[in-house]
Amino acid sequence: METNSRIFVAGHRGLVGSAICRSLRRQGFDNLISRELDELDLRDPAATRRFFAAEQPEFVVLAAAKVGGILANATFPADFIFDNLAIETSVIDAAAREGVRKLLFLGSSCIYPRLAPQPIREESLLTGPLEPTNEWYAIAKIAGIKLAQAYRAQHGLNAISLMPTNLYGPGDNFDPQSSHVLPALIRKMHDAVRAGAGEVVVWGSGTPRREFLHVDDLADAAVFLMLHYDSGEIVNVGTGVDLTIRELAETIARAAGFTGKLAFDASKPDGTPRKLLDVSRLTALGWKPKVALVDGIAETWRWYLANIAHE
Ligand code: GDP
Repeated sequence: METNSRIFVAGHRGLVGSAICRSLRRQGFDNLISRELDELDLRDPAATRRFFAAEQPEFVVLAAAKVGGILANATFPADFIFDNLAIETSVIDAAAREGVRKLLFLGSSCIYPRLAPQPIREESLLTGPLEPTNEWYAIAKIAGIKLAQAYRAQHGLNAISLMPTNLYGPGDNFDPQSSHVLPALIRKMHDAVRAGAGEVVVWGSGTPRREFLHVDDLADAAVFLMLHYDSGEIVNVGTGVDLTIRELAETIARAAGFTGKLAFDASKPDGTPRKLLDVSRLTALGWKPKVALVDGIAETWRWYLANIAHE
């Protein structure tokens, strides 16, 4: 990839896509191509093929996806499986037909079996049943990995796939119903502090363990792999460190200045008990994350105050 290469970032408005655009520009790659959803619906294979034929991108980052937290997955299962399958099939097929030099596909740590040995190695893929609360999304992402591998095998498409752990950062979705836990708790703590409330409700038991990666680190890893990795084997991207949801809530409470009580709502699902990635494949390639969780939370908190809280 050269600094003047034509790079299509699909999903440039999202948490991941926008961070990858920032990271690419910071590293001198400024010939970026993007399209708004009302200009190009990537679920439409014919429109996607016309776009690729006209624009001739040389490199593609496939960060467009239908994403959401544990409740959104349960509420919109058809959207989560259909939109993601449709985006993947149309983009990967168009990329292969138009001779794209390299494509990066973004998967997710929820592709792994619910009870995979921890930390989760890439080899755990398809060795056991999935976590039911997000299996629609997971099935679509597994199909994306297999599409990338099949197009590499049959059509010589240099498609690589990375599996990020739970991501957070500026530009995240803070909607209490559809967001992931970290932005949801930032919002709940903020609302509680503003209202002088003595209690914040945390879903589930607080005991599940999760790993959180700042999206700027993920973006940095994505560019690193675009530059230095050319295999069809999937690569985990994470910090290698996890904590309980209770510990996460306590950390966010400190950042937000919330001194009240945490209440745990057992009527909400816990999801998978633990999700920690083994990141040794990536560290062996020479990449490490930079953002410590407390710093990343403080930064995301400030971003939330400046951009969302006043709405
Ligand atoms: P997951 O990693 O796919 O399970 O996705 P989430 O980020 O949505 O949820 C992670 C964990 O945080 C689950 O155990 C949730 O029950 C828990 N959690 C606690 N409070 C919240 C909240 O306000 N919103 C969300 N989305 N999850 C929460």
